[in-house]
Amino acid sequence: MEAYRGFEQGPIRPPSEADSLLLRLTRNCPWNRCSFCSVYKKQKFSLRPVEDIIRDIDSIHAQTCELQQGGTLAIRKLSPEDESARHAARSWLAQGMTSVFLQDADSLVLKPEQTIRILQHIRKRFPSVQRITSYGRSHTIARISDSQLQEMADAGLNRIHIGMETACDQLLDMVRKGASKDIHIKAGIKTRQAGIELSEYVLTGIGGEEFSQQHAIETADAINQINPDFIRFRTLHIRDSLNLFENSDEFAWQRPTDLTIAREVLLFIENLDNITSCVKSDHMYNLFQEIDGILPQDKQRLMEVLQAFIEMDPEKQACFQLGKRLGHFYKFSDMDIPGRLTRVQTVCAEVGMTPANVDAKINTLIQKWMREGMW
Ligand code: SF4
Repeated sequence: MEAYRGFEQGPIRPPSEADSLLLRLTRNCPWNRCSFCSVYKKQKFSLRPVEDIIRDIDSIHAQTCELQQGGTLAIRKLSPEDESARHAARSWLAQGMTSVFLQDADSLVLKPEQTIRILQHIRKRFPSVQRITSYGRSHTIARISDSQLQEMADAGLNRIHIGMETACDQLLDMVRKGASKDIHIKAGIKTRQAGIELSEYVLTGIGGEEFSQQHAIETADAINQINPDFIRFRTLHIRDSLNLFENSDEFAWQRPTDLTIAREVLLFIENLDNITSCVKSDHMYNLFQEIDGILPQDKQRLMEVLQAFIEMDPEKQACFQLGKRLGHFYKFSDMDIPGRLTRVQTVCAEVGMTPANVDAKINTLIQKWMREGMW
């Protein structure tokens, strides 16, 4: 058995878990074949021994107790092993210690009895924790029995974040997602039936120009059958050199314009029916971050956000596209703040940006940021 490497944390978490303690159950992704995802590429997947995870929990418990009491541990020099736990404990303490996020990409791939033991230990050490959440692949969840999922819920697993990306089978196959529409629906329904909150991530732009409508319609249909607690948008950003449709000899992915994305999201929301999900666009790279509402009552308002962009004067639309990426705007009304629009118009003029070339120019900029690790 491998030796304990000390308290560990993985590279990513959902934005909504910014205040959570990140607790690493597995390293990297057991699938790691999605063509659009570079997070764990070249990283080997491994399960962490349960005893190591229990040790991590105990270590955070010891650190938070000491920090709360202002004891000797708070000032004495620590081993490198304790140092990482101290760092995590200090920031978690500052955030109120109310939630825990299980890492990495698919924590539920552990044996259910192991996950349950870990959940119970978190609850035992930190009875005040209100939420324990995890990423989970649909393929993995669909294979867990209903009773085991129920036991996980009873042990305190409150929410699962699933990267659905799309429910269009052709796209799922072309990007090697390792799940079908049926598997996504099965996993989603099982999760909800176990009483676990469900956050489904929809990847806008995954269909490119050609499959945009199919993506919107099929994904809305799957979401309607699941009725998740949350629908969250993520925008696809990939390097020009990447072949997104790896599994297809027939089709090449064609980068969609922002207008295509707006129409895609509008069509998706239009097709959502008889569900009560909370819809969020809570990632800073999304162009339409002001999409935020609860269905069904906010459906019309959410659609109006997209219609407003689609019908916007092309010059102003291009300014919003650039200004949002440069951090000048968050929502459309920010363009009315004195001086903001003029500032972006000046930048547009300086770089020769026009409605005709805005998508190409922004892509050049994003490609540069990606190369420099800024995006
Ligand atoms: S399952 Fe998730 S983490 Fe793994 S390769 Fe696909 S998108 Fe990336």
